[in-house]
Amino acid sequence: MSDVAVCVHCGAKNRLGTPPAGQVPVCGRCGHPLPWLLSASDATFGAEVTASVPVLVDFWAEWCGPCRAVAPVLEDLAREHAGKLKVVKLDVDRNPDVSGRYGVRSIPTLILFEHGRPAETWVGALPKGTLSARLAPYLRQGGGGEAAR
Ligand SMILES: [Zn+2]
Repeated sequence: MSDVAVCVHCGAKNRLGTPPAGQVPVCGRCGHPLPWLLSASDATFGAEVTASVPVLVDFWAEWCGPCRAVAPVLEDLAREHAGKLKVVKLDVDRNPDVSGRYGVRSIPTLILFEHGRPAETWVGALPKGTLSARLAPYLRQGGGGEAAR
């Protein structure tokens, strides 16, 4: 998985860097917020879950069938809520420290972080509608990304 985001607005490909504190990544061509989805590791996890928007972490592994069902749902959500949500994927086999710290025993497990702290934990492959509904209260208070223009 590469950290390249395709702008929903103009189709330009953007490298996902780390935006300045309090901001979200925007398209280099049109300034529209980008879908924010990337992979983290034990080493980068702390920095990646601390963002100006809620961060949904997907604990997954290559051998996990249900995880493969969740992946495209998360990609959809990142696109639909560009500028209001960050999605971080963490491979539990390669990153046992973080998985252990948050008590992840079965996958897929989704943990929603707010201000760097876990707010919700959802275990299992949730359908997109269910996941959207559970995320909604957190996304509503989003914003702040628009002012950076
Ligand atoms: Zn664009």
